[in-house]
Amino acid sequence: MNTFHSTRSNDQMVTAKQAIRTGIAYDGGLFVNDDLGTANGPHIDIAGLMQSSYQDIAYSVLKALLPDFSEHELRECIEQAYGDQWDDTHITPLKPLGDDWILELFHGPTSAFKDVALQILPRFMARTANTPDVPEQTAHTEERIMILTATSGDTGKAALAGFADAPGTGITVFYPEGKVSQIQQLQMTTQQGNNVHVYAVRGNFDDAQSAVKRIFADHEFANTLQDDAHVALSSANSINVGRLVPQVVYYFAAYAQLVQRGAITLGDPVEFVVPTGNFGNILAGYYAKLLGLPVAHLTVASDKNNVLVDFLNTGVYDRNRPFYQTTSPSMDILISSNLERMLYYFSNKDEALVAKLMESLSQDGTYQIPEDMLKRIQTIFSADWANEDEVNEAIASCFASTGEVIDPHTACGYTVLQRMPQRENVAARILLATASPYKFPRVVNQALGFDHTGSDFACMDVLSQQTGTQAPAALRGLEHAHERFTEVIDIAQMQDVVRRAAFTL
Ligand SMILES: *Cc1c(COP(=O)(O)O)cnc(C)c1O
Repeated sequence: MNTFHSTRSNDQMVTAKQAIRTGIAYDGGLFVNDDLGTANGPHIDIAGLMQSSYQDIAYSVLKALLPDFSEHELRECIEQAYGDQWDDTHITPLKPLGDDWILELFHGPTSAFKDVALQILPRFMARTANTPDVPEQTAHTEERIMILTATSGDTGKAALAGFADAPGTGITVFYPEGKVSQIQQLQMTTQQGNNVHVYAVRGNFDDAQSAVKRIFADHEFANTLQDDAHVALSSANSINVGRLVPQVVYYFAAYAQLVQRGAITLGDPVEFVVPTGNFGNILAGYYAKLLGLPVAHLTVASDKNNVLVDFLNTGVYDRNRPFYQTTSPSMDILISSNLERMLYYFSNKDEALVAKLMESLSQDGTYQIPEDMLKRIQTIFSADWANEDEVNEAIASCFASTGEVIDPHTACGYTVLQRMPQRENVAARILLATASPYKFPRVVNQALGFDHTGSDFACMDVLSQQTGTQAPAALRGLEHAHERFTEVIDIAQMQDVVRRAAFTL
């Protein structure tokens, strides 16, 4: 059952539960599973899943990738995570988009795709209690987990919604004061739950993020919390195996829906176009391929922060470049953490090479992969990006030609899809839609030529009237929701509020 180890070394093997509980490996690497993609590794019989529900597909995928969870545990997690907090019974419904397809990942409680993973991660976490962090340690039976997150918008709310009142856990979220949208801020400050804490921080996102990293790195602080409060700090970061694995499910669910609609025949190869930032969304598609799904091609769609596009075209990753704030904030990223897992698999599982590349990234902000490795990656992955004018044009032209209203993240993908050559061997192309357009009503209205001068809520109403679509009730209802968290703190106070929160857990 000890099937996971670090991308940077293989001297310490852990179970899936241990990997989820600790999040990141002791040497800073990401947990990976060596079996994946090998003849003896996990494999999914897709023929048996084509008429299955999302929940049954989820069970097959999670069982294959998290073998030490029992059937009962997985079924319980799935039932609780993918229930009626989703406003579509398909969970991730597939719709036609001209000659192509669009898979909507935003029907969860916070209207963004991070719900797919963050609705289930807390349920996994609750079932990792009594699991020692490393094999040779004994378990702290009463230990509870405090999740710390600095957020620039979407992740904070999705994490709050997932961890609210989750047994054995608490969550503290920090967002930069005045730097998130009105809707994003209200989504967080109105969060219900007895174990949640939300603070606005004076500073920008990087300041808050760096402070959270310092808190995690403070071993003395960790020991105090451990000894006196029986609380361990953890993160709900997208590098956690427990966030990656649930995302593999929607690739299978998309394929099953294509077969059910008669759009493809079982076995036909398909291509996905994936709005990507931290590389988690698209890496899950590669995992689906390694499990046996006929994925012919995976295309990264980036915004103006196009570091991944350059990497996939040249083999050089270089974060030494300007950072742009765009209308697709969740893809404004210069370090794509989950890329490390792809490097591991495409280097033929060469931990030493991955460690060297990551050292180079941390020292110099750049690395270059060997030519033959790049060639192998390019047989499956390609990449393209959209600037902000193209994003606006994509929102407008998508609505004009298909009737679908898309958000700015999805619009990066739409631009890339339209520009892409039609590949010979691909039977269907699927664009992943990662956020509801109602999370970004001002940008969307502007692109569509509608009035965008009022509040975010006025913009929602205009968008609804003009397009005949409906705002998700949870978003529209924020206008009159009670704000629970209004405290603004300095960076220097962050550790103190974490301490306070830990002792009340
Ligand atoms: C997080 C996010 C993405 C990018 O996903 P990654 O896993 O970082 O690749 C794209 N769109 C939206 C709306 C997101 O919230």
